[in-house]
Amino acid sequence: MLLPSPLHSQRSLLLTLVILLGSGFLATSLLSYYASRDAIRDTIINTELPLTSDTVYSEIQKDLVRPVLISSMMARDTFVRDWVVAGEKDPQQLTRYLKEVMDHNSAYTSFFVSNSSLTYYQAKGVLKKINPQEARDTWYYRVRDMAEPYEINVDPDLANKDNLTFFINYKVFDYHNNFIGATGVGLTVDAVIKLIDRYEQRYQRSVYFVDAFGRLVLTGAQGGPQGAKIGQSLRQLPDLSDLQSKMPKPQSGNYQYDVQGAGHFLNVRYIPELNWYLFVDKPEDGALSDVRESLYLNLSICLVVMLVVLFLLNRVVRRFQIRIETQATLDSLTGLPNRRGFDDMAVQAIHDARRDRTALSALLLDLDHFKRLNDTHGHLAGDEVLIGFADDVRRCLRETDITCRWGGEEFIILLKDTDNTGARRVAEKIRLLAEQHTYVFSGKALQVTVSLGLTELHPDDTLQSLIARADQALYSAKQTGRNRVCTEKAVPA
Ligand code: GH3
Ligand code: MG
Ligand code: MG
Repeated sequence: MLLPSPLHSQRSLLLTLVILLGSGFLATSLLSYYASRDAIRDTIINTELPLTSDTVYSEIQKDLVRPVLISSMMARDTFVRDWVVAGEKDPQQLTRYLKEVMDHNSAYTSFFVSNSSLTYYQAKGVLKKINPQEARDTWYYRVRDMAEPYEINVDPDLANKDNLTFFINYKVFDYHNNFIGATGVGLTVDAVIKLIDRYEQRYQRSVYFVDAFGRLVLTGAQGGPQGAKIGQSLRQLPDLSDLQSKMPKPQSGNYQYDVQGAGHFLNVRYIPELNWYLFVDKPEDGALSDVRESLYLNLSICLVVMLVVLFLLNRVVRRFQIRIETQATLDSLTGLPNRRGFDDMAVQAIHDARRDRTALSALLLDLDHFKRLNDTHGHLAGDEVLIGFADDVRRCLRETDITCRWGGEEFIILLKDTDNTGARRVAEKIRLLAEQHTYVFSGKALQVTVSLGLTELHPDDTLQSLIARADQALYSAKQTGRNRVCTEKAVPA
């Protein structure tokens, strides 16, 4: 069976981790984003917009509903009706009455127009005749002919230009139900407009009023949706086509619609006193920008954490891998390279020697009568000797020399840039050191000698042929009495 390469396994481990961490982070971030988004949407639709609507409604009640009641009382006032029926004798009586109503209720104006004399009475006492030809007097004829008992007329073009003025025009009847004129008060709706402006600026929501036909009747300073002006119909705004399809005519309820791909939440409330609809609108974008920002922040943090984790993991895995690879090429008892570690270095050394035309010698070492030492003192004592001997060998070599525990109590050494003579000197040094060294194990003194076979690299040599010749030399050393160095010359081709 083919095992995957370490690099491949490392890559697939990292990839698996990236996928696991990435999908985990992504899933939790997106889940919390969608949960917060739904919660925010829910709060906007069910709490925020209705609350705004409540507040604006109660303010408009103060501003508009009360004047409607006042006008209604004026229309039913027996003094007014008696005075008209009696022939409008003393105009001052009526203007005093109108002034009283105006002052008492902080209205902008109060008025009565008589149907029989067509006289326009004001609180300030100014009298004039109304004229059907005059554009500014057409309202009266409209009121006279309408079926409803009263109307609310918005007139932004009055003398007080800064303030939008509303007139409540109430029909007045005598005791036989004959129409005898129109009365009412005019007032500014400053408070409501200020409130609308405050909501628009502070809470990113637009507030406006629409009549039963879908026409804008009251907005803040910024105008209605898409900057539409009072009097404009919502149907005339092409951007609101999505809203039109969901709400063809004004209707109470909660809506969600799009303006050029941007979502909006809308709360519509019917105000029966005015026969108007209050619209409170909030763009989704502003409301969700915070939670979207926190999603981006979350994702960036996740990315950074993931990168750091991957970086650290990669480093640990690499270190671990290097350590394992190093350990795999070392002999665990002596710490010298084992055969696996030796082979690559040896092939490279032979290649270098050939390229640089330098000498290279091989030494094969075998401890003498090691079996006997084991048998006499035990295997652990043998191990101790092997460790000590390996240290001795190391001490006799240069950094560049290559050594290896060949197996059991056999060692091999490649001496770079060293000919036969130089190699013999090193071999003798090792032999002598072993002979003179007394190894100690459990208080026992242990002696060991070593036989060495020596040979020099020949131009045609392979690693195998080189070692085979060193082995021959070692055999000679064993045959001729051990504890010696023998040389095997290359057989000339
Ligand atoms: P010779 O002089 O002919 O080499 O005799 P020898 O006894 O050394 O030869 P032989 O190869 O028969 O025996 C080698 C012994 O080395 C046998 C084996 O138990 C022992 N040996 C091999 N590896 C180890 C080791 O890691 N630790 C110990 N304590 N003994 C080992
Ligand atoms: Mg042996
Ligand atoms: Mg031996």
